[in-house]
Amino acid sequence: MERVKDRFWDVLIVGAGASGIMAAVTAAKRGRSVLLMDRMNRIGKKLLATGNGRCNYTNAHMDAGCYHGDQAFISRILDSFSHRDCVEYFRGIGIWPKQRNGYFYPNSDQALSVLLALERELARLCVCIVTDTTFLSVRKLSRGFLCETTQGPFRGGRVIFATGLFASPKLGSDGSALAAVKKLGHSMAPVLPALCGFYCKGMDFKKVSGVRCDASLTLAADGAPQAGERGELQLCDYGLSGIPVFQLSSAAVRALNQKKNVQIHIDFLPDFGRQELSAEIERRKDMMQPGETAAQLLRGLLHEKLIPAVLSASGIDPRGTRGMTRSWKNRLLDMLCGFPVDVIKGREAEFAQVCAGGVTTDEVNPDTLESLLVPNIHFAGELLDVDGICGGYNLQGAWSTGVVAGRSV
Ligand SMILES: Cc1cc2nc3c(=O)[nH]c(=O)nc-3n(C[C@H](O)[C@H](O)[C@H](O)COP(=O)(O)OP(=O)(O)OC[C@H]3O[C@@H](n4cnc5c(N)ncnc54)[C@H](O)[C@@H]3O)c2cc1C
Repeated sequence: MERVKDRFWDVLIVGAGASGIMAAVTAAKRGRSVLLMDRMNRIGKKLLATGNGRCNYTNAHMDAGCYHGDQAFISRILDSFSHRDCVEYFRGIGIWPKQRNGYFYPNSDQALSVLLALERELARLCVCIVTDTTFLSVRKLSRGFLCETTQGPFRGGRVIFATGLFASPKLGSDGSALAAVKKLGHSMAPVLPALCGFYCKGMDFKKVSGVRCDASLTLAADGAPQAGERGELQLCDYGLSGIPVFQLSSAAVRALNQKKNVQIHIDFLPDFGRQELSAEIERRKDMMQPGETAAQLLRGLLHEKLIPAVLSASGIDPRGTRGMTRSWKNRLLDMLCGFPVDVIKGREAEFAQVCAGGVTTDEVNPDTLESLLVPNIHFAGELLDVDGICGGYNLQGAWSTGVVAGRSV
């Protein structure tokens, strides 16, 4: 360790997640001496958890529109190291691509293979890795910088910050470097957990917990529709989760942060048009036997746990045997096609896949990811105020920013 500390490194990289590792590989390929540090006991811990352990590392439908934040900025980054470049790079280091509807995974279906391939590259390129090393602060020297860490000081000509924000802190990114970044003078967009479920009210969630169903969701802020998503909705005892919820989450948490009233309208039967559904309800009503309860109306259309929730919200007693008036039917159709739930707040960072917010991009050069405030300081990955939707976009963002930063040091 003493020899590592005595050395003046060309590049110090703080954070060995996807972006830091990629920055290290890229800089080392260009002949730079690189020290890569991480607070965890091994590098790339979050990478191992991605894609449910299978690592959805990029997506064929890569587009700046799939990111929240400065789209011109992310577009420049994606041009520098594109989806194709990413697939080729990983193929080159042994990761054979497997594609499902545009989502790319390693053929092994193991995130571990991706990390092992990258670790092999780091070793081949003689990148020095120090783990169990928490970065504490950075100080400008007459030449280069001194990074103070829990293992003592390290010195280098340039510093790349690739620490992430604080999504899933148990996997490493706990926000512990953010104060130092702010001290450099950088402003930060509010850091909010995104790609997460929501705490909601408006339904007895304890009773419907565990239901998974195909649904179409519309997000509204102060009554105005913002975005829509269809997919497998998961009802949980606290509210809503599942991929379509994750896809809406970044827009929702930003709206909540602006103190807007946020609602999600759930279409539980997205394959039906309203008229078609109305006819089907009418048909079922006509078929009802004397004494059968209203629940019979929806049996086989909806999950059993959802039937009482939808009927009650429509003003119909699920155990009642009375006929239905037109106003009840309209209300029932409203609830089936757009059940409103109020979003109270997003889930905490420990349950989030990414955080929105971070270092504001107008203080960073998109061609080099160098700070416009402090020369020779660079940023990469989620730390920057750009976050992608689910589907490999966040890892592609991490790889691309890592390459851009690594190329320019
Ligand atoms: C469960 C889960 C599943 C996901 N699945 C996918 C997926 O399939 N596809 C996809 O595209 N995205 C996925 N993501 C998102 C993706 O993993 C992240 O966007 C990406 O890893 C961000 O990379 P990064 O390098 O910016 O940050 P991170 O991967 O968070 O790495 C930051 C590193 O910095 C280190 N660090 C932080 N502070 C310090 C400090 N003070 N000193 C030293 N080291 C420090 C941390 O230990 C960490 O290793 C998933 C995320 C989670 C949590």
